[in-house]
Amino acid sequence: MLDITSLIELLARPQKIVIITHHKPDGDAIGSSLGLYNYLIQQGHHTKVITPTDYPAYFNWLPGNGEVIIFTENIEESTKLVADADIIFCLDFNALSRINDMGELVGKSKALKILIDHHLEPEDFDDYRYWNINACATAQLVYKFIVNELKHKELVNKDVACCLYTGIMTDSASFSLPNTTSEVHRIAADLIDAGAANSYIYDRVHNNSSENQLRFLGICLCCRLEVLYDFNTAIITVSKQDLEKYSIGTGETEGIVNYALSVSGMRLAAFIVERSDKVKLSLRSKGEFPANEICKKYFNGGGHRNAAGGTSTDSFEQVINQFKLILPEYKKLLIQ
Ligand code: 5GP
Ligand code: MN
Repeated sequence: MLDITSLIELLARPQKIVIITHHKPDGDAIGSSLGLYNYLIQQGHHTKVITPTDYPAYFNWLPGNGEVIIFTENIEESTKLVADADIIFCLDFNALSRINDMGELVGKSKALKILIDHHLEPEDFDDYRYWNINACATAQLVYKFIVNELKHKELVNKDVACCLYTGIMTDSASFSLPNTTSEVHRIAADLIDAGAANSYIYDRVHNNSSENQLRFLGICLCCRLEVLYDFNTAIITVSKQDLEKYSIGTGETEGIVNYALSVSGMRLAAFIVERSDKVKLSLRSKGEFPANEICKKYFNGGGHRNAAGGTSTDSFEQVINQFKLILPEYKKLLIQ
């Protein structure tokens, strides 16, 4: 393991740096990556952000977005960048499987690997770790890493601030989750002072639905929501046909699960969607209920206690049934 002094010495000279985040990047993944990118380029480092897959267009306005390389669309260039890198920052993921085929490249690379993350139980693939599961977002940790470890608060400029604020806002569900501590609000305030236009950022991320998306949300709430009052659990199930009918892409179902959790009294919510090659589950819970345990135990997944995900290769109907059959095991926790 590298220590912070050696890392600071290393970063004092221009390095070839690659920043990688998890597949299907969300606001924290892309926000923390571009926040770090906008910091590192000020230091003269040759820096590239590579995402394993693409991400929703409503993040395309983030400063530095034009420089992001999408692995699946630029395999040769990405492979070379990873192989030649001096340092690889691994942001917002805890296992190489979360970066798809890039996992093998990163595993093989001789570059120093620096993990900045807030997921449980990281795999042992890094040389330096800035990790805290209590952080509401990786972007929060990137801010603390720059300010407290690298002592570069003055380099948190408008671009850095805008990206990190986006990461914190999205991963904390707009400052609503229990891990939104006073520290998170203080960091958000610092970022606003540094130039993050908070109201503009909220508007760009949240008020950008297409007509189709809104009508699709209507169908989800009206016809695909099932409330299982015996288990304080609400589920929304969406088939391949539903997605096709409304031309809904992968990133465009983000957040729908929260509507299920907003039914009064619910402790657990699931969004179960039939994708072309598998069924994907998104779980959200309240309080101590371990949504990640269900995902890990039954659906090849994981995540945080209150926000977790997983997948299954069983049929859509089988997965819905399996999910319902799991609930009695957790009844005590669900109805307390
Ligand atoms: P979402 O429901 O938004 O897809 O995922 C919520 C959280 O669960 C993500 O932040 C991520 O940490 C975690 N997650 C989602 N899908 C998976 C998965 O397949 N495996 C693991 N380990 N974690 C996942
Ligand atoms: Mn995150």
